[in-house]
Amino acid sequence: MGRRAVFGVLVAIAVVAFTWFSSEKQSVPVTGRTQRVAMSDTQQEQLGLQVFDQTLQEQQGAGNVITTGPQYAQVERVAKRIAKVGAVDKPEFDWAVALVHSDEVNAFCLPGGKIVVYTGLLGVAKTDDELATVLGHEVAHAVAEHGAERILREQLTQRAVTAASGAFADDPQRYQQVAGLLGAGAQVGLSLPWGRAQESEADHIGLIYMARAGYDPPAALTFWKRMQRTTEGGAPPEYLSTHPSGTTRIKQIQGWIPEAQRERTQHDEVEGDVAA
Ligand SMILES: [Zn+2]
Repeated sequence: MGRRAVFGVLVAIAVVAFTWFSSEKQSVPVTGRTQRVAMSDTQQEQLGLQVFDQTLQEQQGAGNVITTGPQYAQVERVAKRIAKVGAVDKPEFDWAVALVHSDEVNAFCLPGGKIVVYTGLLGVAKTDDELATVLGHEVAHAVAEHGAERILREQLTQRAVTAASGAFADDPQRYQQVAGLLGAGAQVGLSLPWGRAQESEADHIGLIYMARAGYDPPAALTFWKRMQRTTEGGAPPEYLSTHPSGTTRIKQIQGWIPEAQRERTQHDEVEGDVAA
């Protein structure tokens, strides 16, 4: 390695260390994993609210926002129970849910607790328990602050790549080469595996949340298996391009079922009933 490259690496390490240690350190609910995020809770809520309002405005303009009827009642019913559980870990979140008419098989929960469900999902998630599987997973992403965590990672990668390739700033061609290589390496080596780890974590927290809300944890297996079958016939639905299904996911969920069942038993003892 040349002197310039060594210098670039040292600067990159310093920049990454500074960004890392000036971020907020906290613990993820349920899994207890220590994480660092780039944004405060207030910043996340503001961002989430902005995206939620914008989404609703666009969909309202197209006449796609559903606020009555049996589908809305189901979504509201399940979202309320999952949000009540999420609120124990994130009392400062301001929870809300919207149902949008769309063939897309999708749902998401924005930072700060704003949930959006597309009607296309209701064709795959057939019962309240299965819908609770998806909403548990989505709410888990928000509660575990996966978005803010991803932003910190992107900042780290970007700053490190800029700093490291900065050593070649006087040689534009080399700079492009080095920056491109480092960027691609970071994508393959860091972003992809990290994304999968977040998906697993959301599955785990989501399963515990649905159990705490009084839903039936094994419904998660039925739902994800159906999602997997849905994709075998042709192009994967939108939901799966960001939420990879597969045998690994099902195996992991099977491993968490006993823990979830204990949470469910506790819920039933406290509530004194068995949720339908
Ligand atoms: Zn996910």
